[in-house]
Amino acid sequence: MAPTNSLVLIELYQSVQGESSFAGLPCIFVRLAGCNLRCSWCDSEYTFSGGTRFSLEEIEQKIAALAPIKLVEFTGGEPMLQERELLPLMDRLLAQSYTLLLETSGERSLAAVPKAVHKIMDVKCPASGESGRFHLANLEALTSRDEVKFVVSDRADYEFTRDFIRQHDLAARCGHVLLSPAFTKSPTSERSAENCALDPRLLVEWMLDDHLPARLSLQIHKFIWEPLKKGV
Ligand code: SF4
Repeated sequence: MAPTNSLVLIELYQSVQGESSFAGLPCIFVRLAGCNLRCSWCDSEYTFSGGTRFSLEEIEQKIAALAPIKLVEFTGGEPMLQERELLPLMDRLLAQSYTLLLETSGERSLAAVPKAVHKIMDVKCPASGESGRFHLANLEALTSRDEVKFVVSDRADYEFTRDFIRQHDLAARCGHVLLSPAFTKSPTSERSAENCALDPRLLVEWMLDDHLPARLSLQIHKFIWEPLKKGV
């Protein structure tokens, strides 16, 4: 089937990056429609259906309109479900000196993603309900630009994470290993760590006890704005 030269978009907006080693930097978010997983703690269920189709040129224009920001994150949903159209758009933006981030569940092969793109790849833990969907060969596609993220809900998730990091020597394969405490599905409107399903302090204590070569990653947008606010 020929590429459609268009992508189904949920939203495109500017904010500060909330996660990863790019946290705190102004960033353009391109949120694409659709996901083939159903993580128990997902905060993006509104991406599962709907959206509006835009040509690659239209999306490029929307990004250019948010100049001078040159940092762009593709997220979802799962952006790699639209791989045939997404990868050519990435090439076009890289040629214009944008820095690109790709947030992905890690379930699809990432072998064809341009090497200049910073992949921020999840490995789903047991409490997500989607553990075991990880495409293990993606470990071979990692470079020092890339980051691997574990969303941790409880001690069992933490032990899964710790063992995975050690078994696959993850710190040597990528630039950053991120541990992010899961957020509750029903947060209060308070901008508070009380809304984390796992107390970040407890997670830090476990990481220090095990000398884990990893970085704590809080979703800072949920502390800057109300946790359920969209488009930030
Ligand atoms: S992969 Fe991401 S968008 Fe899809 S269900 Fe999981 S958290 Fe939600």
